[in-house]
Amino acid sequence: MIKGNLLYEGKAKTVFETDNPNELLVYFKDDATAGNGAKHDIIEGKGIINNKISEYFFKQLKDRGIKSHFIEKIGEREMLVKKLDMIKLEVVVRNIVAGSLVKRLGLEEGTPLTVPVVEYYYKSDELGDPMLNRYHIMALDLAKIDELNQMEHVAFSINTILREILKAKNVDLIDFKLEFGRFDGEVILADEISPDNCRFWDIVTHEKLDKDRFRQDLGGVKEAYKEMLDRLTM
Ligand code: ADP
Ligand code: UDP
Repeated sequence: MIKGNLLYEGKAKTVFETDNPNELLVYFKDDATAGNGAKHDIIEGKGIINNKISEYFFKQLKDRGIKSHFIEKIGEREMLVKKLDMIKLEVVVRNIVAGSLVKRLGLEEGTPLTVPVVEYYYKSDELGDPMLNRYHIMALDLAKIDELNQMEHVAFSINTILREILKAKNVDLIDFKLEFGRFDGEVILADEISPDNCRFWDIVTHEKLDKDRFRQDLGGVKEAYKEMLDRLTM
């Protein structure tokens, strides 16, 4: 594999072309941002940990029949993936109230939801990722109805799988964000699954082991990410 031109520099990752037109190289950076880029810091070694955690989850999901863009981890910060035609949506699944739901619905953080909830956000930095419903998505032609149904079905399956894996590691899955893209007429999972885009709490102490440590200035950000990696892989 030969690393090609820079395709896209994001907030947490950089994407490069490769000599294979169907494959991309994803480089995990140490940058942490919140509030649509308003808050920024470098968390030394975060990229290395997120690459490892994402590799772990993509492999676990593959073993349970969930396809993703993941091909292989090729360096401590680098992952080879299938190049997808990305769907400009963030698909959020929630089990327990946290983050924006606290403010929007006036519920207390930590309140269990009686059924898992799915939400869609338009991936647009200029607009600040506004929430969309299924009709907005179809009206904006961001995804077809069958693609939307596929994404929702896969997102709930992933929720069930991740909750089971994490429960065995004494971790509650509060919520998480997924991205999907098209490949060969199919909608498949993309991006990453890491403490940057999931909320993980210790089941007993409710200690936060995710990016909320950065968002809320709780300290011990890197230690929390490392703790998640150790619990998952040791
Ligand atoms: P952001 O764009 O929110 O700043 P990142 O820093 O994580 O996010 O950048 C990674 C970018 O790569 C995102 O825009 C994401 O949608 C895109 N991406 C992830 N997986 C793939 C893939 N398999 N093919 C094409 N693009 C991808
Ligand atoms: N999330 C994400 N990227 C975003 C917004 C949210 O990865 O641009 C994740 C976040 O880490 C959490 C879930 O999606 O696990 C729900 O986030 P929420 O809507 O509560 O937004 P927040 O207040 O965290 O921005």
